[in-house]
Amino acid sequence: MTVTKHRTCANCGGRAVPIVYGMVGVDAFEAAERGEVELGGCVIEGEAPAWKCTSCEAEFGRLQPD
Ligand SMILES: [Zn+2]
Repeated sequence: MTVTKHRTCANCGGRAVPIVYGMVGVDAFEAAERGEVELGGCVIEGEAPAWKCTSCEAEFGRLQPD
């Protein structure tokens, strides 16, 4: 898994983590337990947010296909 990047929440200034979609491996679950990523589930519906704030749970950004 690539190096986790954080962003600052535009809503509260807290720490936002990337939302991981699709079939994820054990490393992604461990990262989620550490609060480094948010698991978004296997199905992407509509305009999926790319980031989720760990403080206020605001979701923002747009998931960009690779
Ligand atoms: Zn926030």
